[in-house]
Amino acid sequence: MSEYTFKQLSNHTYYIASPSNIGIYEENGSAFLIDSGIDKEAGRQVLKFLKQQKWELALIINTHSNADHIGGNAFLQKKTTCRIAATDMEAPFITFPFLEPAFVSGSYPSIKLQNKFLMANPSTVTDIIPPDGQILETPLQAVHLPGHFFKMIGVETPDNVLFTADSLIPETIIKKYHIFYLFDVRNHFETITMLQERENILYVPSHGEPVQNITDMVEKNREKMLEIIDLILSLVQTPVTVEELLAELCRHYNLEINTNQYFLLLGTVRSYLAYLLEEKKVDSIYGDGNMKWVAR
Ligand SMILES: [Zn+2]
Repeated sequence: MSEYTFKQLSNHTYYIASPSNIGIYEENGSAFLIDSGIDKEAGRQVLKFLKQQKWELALIINTHSNADHIGGNAFLQKKTTCRIAATDMEAPFITFPFLEPAFVSGSYPSIKLQNKFLMANPSTVTDIIPPDGQILETPLQAVHLPGHFFKMIGVETPDNVLFTADSLIPETIIKKYHIFYLFDVRNHFETITMLQERENILYVPSHGEPVQNITDMVEKNREKMLEIIDLILSLVQTPVTVEELLAELCRHYNLEINTNQYFLLLGTVRSYLAYLLEEKKVDSIYGDGNMKWVAR
């Protein structure tokens, strides 16, 4: 069975279910894409599908710049010369994908980090869009969803579908992985609360099935974040380095991690610590060439 399944969600809204869902809104034969999938193969599948429908690809809207959301950009832009829209802080990562593994490692990225999950092929962002409001001349609306990455957006269609990018993680994934990548913990809490307050919308997360009622998913996401915060606070009762903290969290959740996950999770733990420092719950101390985190 193909990894890519085409599904209709509403009058004009479709999505290609895949490891990284791809949204499609069609009007008068023009197709607007919401993200482009995990790699070149995803792009190929999109094009095949659009050809079958006799639709023309007008625009790719990237919700954010993570490689698994922009992986089909380069292929599709080369084949169709389509436009690509993204917010100002996400666009540089799309134009220069080397920035993602560099950002994730906080250094020159080891060759092990320069893989398709963290580094897509470069493509050209033709339109910088605001994180809220109408997207260019399309009938689609951007919804600002800060937290997971620098300036992530969701995309809302006129026929009541909201593509929520990586703002909400389905319960099955949370149960398996526990710690999901976050850049800005405070903003993420606000984003998921805002999403919960919306009504009459079909929500489509990037990595899971569409859901009509979002309350449960928001609760599960929030509970897991609060659980991780409690765990961190219990672990910093004696001073620990961030690497020791991550190791303790992995032990607690029984997680086996690879190179990508190690760096992504280390970044996530640092983001939680930055949030807890602002909340005056932890402090960082230096000595013996170490930085350690301790409860305040
Ligand atoms: Zn993603």
